[in-house]
Amino acid sequence: MKLDSSNPTGNGRWVVGVDVGGTKIAAGVVGANGQVQGRVKLPTDTSRPEMTLQAIAHAVKEALQGAGLEASRVNGIGLGIPGKVDPATGVSLLAVNLGWQDVPVKSWLENQLNLPCAIENDVAAGALGESLYGAGKGLENLVYISLGTGIAARVIIEGRLYRGSSGLAGEIGHISFDPNGPVCRCGGTGCLEALAAGPALAQQAEAALQAGRSSLIRELPGYGPKLSSELVFEAASQGDTLANEIITGAGSHLAYAIYMLAMSFNPQAIILGGGLSQAGNPLIAAIETGLAQWIPRSPIFREVMRQTTLKTAGLTRDAGIVGAAAVFNATGLNQTLNHK
Ligand SMILES: [Zn+2]
Repeated sequence: MKLDSSNPTGNGRWVVGVDVGGTKIAAGVVGANGQVQGRVKLPTDTSRPEMTLQAIAHAVKEALQGAGLEASRVNGIGLGIPGKVDPATGVSLLAVNLGWQDVPVKSWLENQLNLPCAIENDVAAGALGESLYGAGKGLENLVYISLGTGIAARVIIEGRLYRGSSGLAGEIGHISFDPNGPVCRCGGTGCLEALAAGPALAQQAEAALQAGRSSLIRELPGYGPKLSSELVFEAASQGDTLANEIITGAGSHLAYAIYMLAMSFNPQAIILGGGLSQAGNPLIAAIETGLAQWIPRSPIFREVMRQTTLKTAGLTRDAGIVGAAAVFNATGLNQTLNHK
Protein backbone atom coordinates (compact mmCIF):
# COMPACT_ATOMS: atom_id res chain seq x y z
CA MET A 1 0.00 0.00 0.00
CA LYS A 2 1.35 3.42 -0.95
CA LEU A 3 0.88 6.41 1.28
CA ASP A 4 -1.04 9.23 -0.29
CA SER A 5 1.50 11.97 -0.98
CA SER A 6 -1.24 14.59 -0.72
CA ASN A 7 -1.91 13.47 2.85
CA PRO A 8 -2.17 16.58 5.06
CA THR A 9 0.28 15.01 7.52
CA GLY A 10 2.91 15.87 4.92
CA ASN A 11 6.47 14.76 4.53
CA GLY A 12 8.42 13.41 7.42
CA ARG A 13 5.54 13.39 9.90
CA TRP A 14 5.53 9.62 10.09
CA VAL A 15 6.91 7.65 13.01
CA VAL A 16 7.43 3.91 13.25
CA GLY A 17 5.86 2.52 16.42
CA VAL A 18 7.10 -0.79 17.80
CA ASP A 19 5.34 -2.65 20.60
CA VAL A 20 7.84 -5.15 21.98
CA GLY A 21 6.10 -7.96 23.87
CA GLY A 22 7.33 -11.20 25.38
CA THR A 23 5.72 -13.29 22.62
CA LYS A 24 5.32 -10.90 19.68
CA ILE A 25 6.67 -7.70 18.20
CA ALA A 26 4.06 -5.47 16.53
CA ALA A 27 5.15 -2.56 14.35
CA GLY A 28 3.53 -0.04 12.05
CA VAL A 29 4.01 3.39 10.54
CA VAL A 30 1.93 5.97 12.39
CA GLY A 31 0.79 9.29 10.94
CA ALA A 32 0.11 12.58 12.65
CA ASN A 33 -3.48 11.62 13.50
CA GLY A 34 -2.56 8.20 14.84
CA GLN A 35 -3.49 6.36 11.65
CA VAL A 36 -1.46 3.18 11.09
CA GLN A 37 -0.05 1.75 7.86
CA GLY A 38 2.15 -1.26 7.13
CA ARG A 39 1.23 -3.29 10.23
CA VAL A 40 3.63 -6.16 10.96
CA LYS A 41 3.55 -8.84 13.64
CA LEU A 42 6.55 -11.08 14.26
CA PRO A 43 7.31 -13.61 16.98
CA THR A 44 9.75 -12.30 19.61
CA ASP A 45 13.04 -14.16 19.53
CA THR A 46 14.20 -14.02 23.15
CA SER A 47 17.10 -16.48 22.73
CA ARG A 48 19.61 -13.61 23.08
CA PRO A 49 19.12 -9.80 23.36
CA GLU A 50 20.86 -9.30 20.00
CA MET A 51 18.35 -11.65 18.33
CA THR A 52 15.44 -9.69 19.79
CA LEU A 53 16.99 -6.41 18.58
CA GLN A 54 17.47 -7.90 15.13
CA ALA A 55 13.81 -8.96 15.07
CA ILE A 56 12.82 -5.39 16.03
CA ALA A 57 14.98 -3.93 13.23
CA HIS A 58 13.43 -6.43 10.82
CA ALA A 59 9.90 -5.44 11.93
CA VAL A 60 10.72 -1.75 11.36
CA LYS A 61 11.99 -2.43 7.84
CA GLU A 62 8.93 -4.55 7.03
CA ALA A 63 6.57 -1.88 8.34
CA LEU A 64 8.24 0.77 6.15
CA GLN A 65 8.08 -1.52 3.16
CA GLY A 66 4.44 -2.37 3.84
CA ALA A 67 3.61 1.32 3.98
CA GLY A 68 5.58 1.98 0.80
CA LEU A 69 7.72 4.54 2.59
CA GLU A 70 11.43 5.36 2.43
CA ALA A 71 13.18 5.60 5.80
CA SER A 72 14.08 9.20 4.89
CA ARG A 73 10.40 10.15 5.16
CA VAL A 74 9.97 9.14 8.80
CA ASN A 75 11.02 11.19 11.79
CA GLY A 76 12.10 8.21 13.83
CA ILE A 77 11.11 5.16 15.83
CA GLY A 78 9.28 4.90 19.13
CA LEU A 79 9.33 1.71 21.19
CA GLY A 80 7.18 0.47 24.06
CA ILE A 81 9.13 -2.07 26.10
CA PRO A 82 7.97 -4.00 29.15
CA GLY A 83 9.75 -3.40 32.46
CA LYS A 84 12.08 -0.66 33.59
CA VAL A 85 13.67 1.62 31.00
CA ASP A 86 15.82 4.74 31.01
CA PRO A 87 14.48 6.95 28.20
CA ALA A 88 17.36 9.43 28.59
CA THR A 89 20.05 6.85 27.72
CA GLY A 90 17.73 4.59 25.72
CA VAL A 91 18.69 1.56 27.80
CA SER A 92 16.25 -1.19 28.83
CA LEU A 93 17.31 -1.67 32.45
CA LEU A 94 15.26 -4.79 33.16
CA ALA A 95 12.66 -6.64 31.09
CA VAL A 96 12.06 -10.05 32.64
CA ASN A 97 9.75 -11.24 29.82
CA LEU A 98 12.45 -10.52 27.24
CA GLY A 99 15.36 -11.76 29.35
CA TRP A 100 16.89 -8.28 29.07
CA GLN A 101 19.10 -6.45 31.51
CA ASP A 102 20.91 -3.22 30.59
CA VAL A 103 20.30 -3.60 26.85
CA PRO A 104 21.27 -0.44 24.89
CA VAL A 105 18.18 -0.50 22.64
CA LYS A 106 18.37 3.07 21.35
CA SER A 107 22.05 3.12 20.33
CA TRP A 108 21.87 -0.39 18.80
CA LEU A 109 18.83 0.41 16.66
CA GLU A 110 20.09 3.87 15.70
CA ASN A 111 23.32 2.35 14.44
CA GLN A 112 21.45 -0.35 12.59
CA LEU A 113 18.65 1.71 11.05
CA ASN A 114 20.07 5.24 10.97
CA LEU A 115 16.88 6.70 12.45
CA PRO A 116 16.52 8.34 15.87
CA CYS A 117 14.80 6.17 18.48
CA ALA A 118 12.95 6.83 21.73
CA ILE A 119 11.99 4.16 24.25
CA GLU A 120 9.58 3.99 27.17
CA ASN A 121 7.91 1.45 29.38
CA ASP A 122 4.96 -0.15 27.57
CA VAL A 123 2.30 1.07 30.02
CA ALA A 124 3.72 4.59 29.80
CA ALA A 125 3.51 4.21 26.01
CA GLY A 126 -0.16 3.23 26.42
CA ALA A 127 -0.80 6.34 28.51
CA LEU A 128 0.94 8.59 25.97
CA GLY A 129 -0.98 6.96 23.11
CA GLU A 130 -4.34 7.61 24.80
CA SER A 131 -3.23 11.13 25.66
CA LEU A 132 -2.16 12.05 22.12
CA TYR A 133 -4.56 10.01 19.98
CA GLY A 134 -7.14 8.19 22.09
CA ALA A 135 -9.71 8.69 24.84
CA GLY A 136 -7.49 11.27 26.57
CA LYS A 137 -6.94 13.48 23.52
CA GLY A 138 -7.04 17.14 24.54
CA LEU A 139 -6.91 16.37 28.28
CA GLU A 140 -4.07 17.72 30.42
CA ASN A 141 -4.47 15.41 33.41
CA LEU A 142 -5.25 11.75 33.17
CA VAL A 143 -4.58 8.38 34.70
CA TYR A 144 -4.20 5.36 32.44
CA ILE A 145 -4.62 1.88 33.91
CA SER A 146 -3.53 -1.19 31.97
CA LEU A 147 -5.52 -4.33 32.85
CA GLY A 148 -4.28 -7.60 31.44
CA THR A 149 -1.87 -10.28 32.55
CA GLY A 150 -0.47 -7.53 34.75
CA ILE A 151 -1.86 -4.33 36.23
CA ALA A 152 -0.10 -0.95 36.15
CA ALA A 153 -1.03 2.69 35.87
CA ARG A 154 0.75 5.72 34.43
CA VAL A 155 -0.15 9.33 35.00
CA ILE A 156 -0.11 12.32 32.64
CA ILE A 157 0.14 15.57 34.59
CA GLU A 158 -0.30 18.88 32.80
CA GLY A 159 0.25 17.16 29.47
CA ARG A 160 3.44 15.35 30.43
CA LEU A 161 4.09 11.79 31.52
CA TYR A 162 4.96 11.75 35.22
CA ARG A 163 7.71 9.14 35.60
CA GLY A 164 8.76 9.63 39.23
CA SER A 165 12.44 9.39 40.11
CA SER A 166 13.03 6.07 38.35
CA GLY A 167 10.06 5.59 36.04
CA LEU A 168 8.06 3.46 38.47
CA ALA A 169 5.39 6.02 39.37
CA GLY A 170 2.05 4.28 38.92
CA GLU A 171 3.02 0.68 39.74
CA ILE A 172 -0.28 0.23 41.50
CA GLY A 173 -0.43 -3.46 40.55
CA HIS A 174 2.21 -4.12 43.19
CA ILE A 175 0.57 -2.34 46.10
CA SER A 176 -0.51 -4.95 48.63
CA PHE A 177 -4.27 -4.91 49.08
CA ASP A 178 -4.36 -7.96 51.34
CA PRO A 179 -1.44 -8.82 53.65
CA ASN A 180 -2.76 -12.41 53.86
CA GLY A 181 -3.35 -12.69 50.12
CA PRO A 182 -1.59 -14.78 47.46
CA VAL A 183 2.10 -14.36 46.66
CA CYS A 184 2.66 -12.12 43.63
CA ARG A 185 5.18 -12.73 40.85
CA CYS A 186 7.06 -9.65 42.18
CA GLY A 187 7.67 -11.49 45.46
CA GLY A 188 5.17 -9.39 47.41
CA THR A 189 2.04 -10.68 49.12
CA GLY A 190 -1.53 -9.80 48.23
CA CYS A 191 -0.61 -7.34 45.46
CA LEU A 192 -3.52 -5.93 43.44
CA GLU A 193 -2.14 -7.82 40.42
CA ALA A 194 -2.21 -11.12 42.37
CA LEU A 195 -5.86 -10.44 43.21
CA ALA A 196 -7.34 -8.92 40.06
CA ALA A 197 -5.21 -9.49 36.92
CA GLY A 198 -6.17 -12.13 34.34
CA PRO A 199 -3.98 -14.97 35.72
CA ALA A 200 -5.27 -14.29 39.26
CA LEU A 201 -8.88 -14.75 38.13
CA ALA A 202 -7.96 -18.04 36.45
CA GLN A 203 -6.16 -19.23 39.62
CA GLN A 204 -9.10 -18.32 41.84
CA ALA A 205 -11.40 -20.34 39.57
CA GLU A 206 -8.99 -23.32 39.55
CA ALA A 207 -8.80 -23.30 43.35
CA ALA A 208 -12.58 -23.14 43.72
CA LEU A 209 -13.11 -25.97 41.23
CA GLN A 210 -10.52 -28.11 43.02
CA ALA A 211 -12.39 -27.43 46.25
CA GLY A 212 -15.49 -28.91 44.62
CA ARG A 213 -17.48 -25.77 43.73
CA SER A 214 -19.99 -26.34 40.98
CA SER A 215 -19.54 -24.12 37.93
CA LEU A 216 -20.33 -23.89 34.24
CA ILE A 217 -16.59 -23.49 33.64
CA ARG A 218 -16.24 -27.31 33.63
CA GLU A 219 -18.70 -27.54 30.72
CA LEU A 220 -17.01 -24.96 28.47
CA PRO A 221 -14.91 -25.84 25.42
CA GLY A 222 -11.27 -25.27 26.27
CA TYR A 223 -11.70 -26.41 29.88
CA GLY A 224 -8.61 -28.26 31.13
CA PRO A 225 -6.26 -28.44 34.06
CA LYS A 226 -4.85 -24.98 33.26
CA LEU A 227 -7.63 -22.41 33.08
CA SER A 228 -7.55 -19.09 31.24
CA SER A 229 -9.28 -15.93 32.42
CA GLU A 230 -11.25 -16.01 29.12
CA LEU A 231 -13.09 -19.10 30.38
CA VAL A 232 -13.98 -17.27 33.60
CA PHE A 233 -15.36 -14.33 31.58
CA GLU A 234 -17.25 -16.69 29.27
CA ALA A 235 -18.85 -18.51 32.21
CA ALA A 236 -19.76 -15.18 33.83
CA SER A 237 -21.50 -14.03 30.65
CA GLN A 238 -23.62 -17.22 30.85
CA GLY A 239 -24.66 -16.39 34.41
CA ASP A 240 -22.27 -18.67 36.29
CA THR A 241 -22.31 -17.85 40.03
CA LEU A 242 -18.68 -18.74 40.77
CA ALA A 243 -17.31 -16.79 37.79
CA ASN A 244 -19.41 -13.77 38.70
CA GLU A 245 -18.22 -13.90 42.31
CA ILE A 246 -14.59 -13.93 41.15
CA ILE A 247 -15.10 -11.02 38.76
CA THR A 248 -17.06 -9.01 41.33
CA GLY A 249 -14.21 -9.49 43.80
CA ALA A 250 -11.60 -8.31 41.27
CA GLY A 251 -13.80 -5.36 40.27
CA SER A 252 -14.10 -4.30 43.88
CA HIS A 253 -10.28 -4.29 44.32
CA LEU A 254 -9.86 -2.36 41.08
CA ALA A 255 -12.50 0.14 42.16
CA TYR A 256 -10.47 0.73 45.33
CA ALA A 257 -7.36 1.31 43.19
CA ILE A 258 -9.30 3.84 41.11
CA TYR A 259 -10.50 5.51 44.32
CA MET A 260 -6.87 5.97 45.43
CA LEU A 261 -5.67 7.17 42.02
CA ALA A 262 -8.55 9.63 41.65
CA MET A 263 -7.96 11.04 45.12
CA SER A 264 -4.17 11.26 44.51
CA PHE A 265 -4.27 12.97 41.13
CA ASN A 266 -7.74 14.48 40.62
CA PRO A 267 -7.56 13.66 36.89
CA GLN A 268 -10.01 14.68 34.17
CA ALA A 269 -10.23 11.07 33.07
CA ILE A 270 -9.27 7.61 34.21
CA ILE A 271 -8.75 5.47 31.14
CA LEU A 272 -8.92 1.68 31.33
CA GLY A 273 -6.71 0.00 28.74
CA GLY A 274 -5.11 -3.40 28.22
CA GLY A 275 -6.59 -6.71 27.17
CA LEU A 276 -9.25 -6.86 29.90
CA SER A 277 -10.59 -3.37 29.20
CA GLN A 278 -12.52 -4.08 26.00
CA ALA A 279 -16.13 -2.97 26.00
CA GLY A 280 -18.42 -5.75 27.11
CA ASN A 281 -15.90 -7.28 29.48
CA PRO A 282 -17.81 -8.00 32.71
CA LEU A 283 -14.82 -6.71 34.69
CA ILE A 284 -15.66 -3.14 33.63
CA ALA A 285 -19.21 -3.53 34.97
CA ALA A 286 -17.79 -5.01 38.20
CA ILE A 287 -15.48 -1.98 38.57
CA GLU A 288 -18.45 0.35 38.13
CA THR A 289 -20.38 -1.59 40.77
CA GLY A 290 -17.37 -1.32 43.10
CA LEU A 291 -17.12 2.44 42.55
CA ALA A 292 -20.83 2.84 43.25
CA GLN A 293 -20.08 1.41 46.69
CA TRP A 294 -17.20 3.79 47.45
CA ILE A 295 -18.70 7.00 46.13
CA PRO A 296 -21.49 7.34 48.76
CA ARG A 297 -19.00 6.61 51.56
CA SER A 298 -16.61 9.44 50.72
CA PRO A 299 -17.90 12.97 50.10
CA ILE A 300 -14.52 14.08 48.74
CA PHE A 301 -14.31 11.13 46.35
CA ARG A 302 -17.82 12.05 45.21
CA GLU A 303 -16.62 15.59 44.57
CA VAL A 304 -13.51 14.34 42.70
CA MET A 305 -15.55 11.94 40.56
CA ARG A 306 -17.80 14.79 39.44
CA GLN A 307 -14.82 16.01 37.39
CA THR A 308 -13.42 12.60 36.45
CA THR A 309 -14.75 10.48 33.64
CA LEU A 310 -14.07 6.76 33.72
CA LYS A 311 -13.45 5.67 30.13
CA THR A 312 -12.32 2.60 28.27
CA ALA A 313 -9.36 3.11 25.96
CA GLY A 314 -9.98 4.81 22.63
CA LEU A 315 -7.19 2.87 20.90
CA THR A 316 -7.88 -0.82 20.66
CA ARG A 317 -6.36 -2.92 17.89
CA ASP A 318 -3.33 -0.67 17.28
CA ALA A 319 -2.91 0.60 20.86
CA GLY A 320 0.60 -0.82 21.28
CA ILE A 321 1.90 0.54 17.95
CA VAL A 322 0.29 3.97 18.30
CA GLY A 323 1.43 4.24 21.93
CA ALA A 324 5.00 3.44 20.88
CA ALA A 325 4.86 6.16 18.20
CA ALA A 326 3.51 8.56 20.84
CA VAL A 327 6.64 7.85 22.91
CA PHE A 328 8.74 9.25 20.09
CA ASN A 329 6.46 12.23 19.54
CA ALA A 330 6.28 13.05 23.25
CA THR A 331 9.93 12.82 24.18
CA GLY A 332 11.60 15.79 22.58
CA LEU A 333 14.58 13.44 22.26
CA ASN A 334 13.46 12.95 18.72
CA GLN A 335 15.99 15.15 16.99
CA THR A 336 19.12 13.45 18.23
CA LEU A 337 20.75 10.53 16.51
CA ASN A 338 22.92 9.05 19.19
CA HIS A 339 25.64 7.20 17.27
CA LYS A 340 28.25 5.56 19.41
ZN1 LIG B 1 3.39 -7.71 43.12
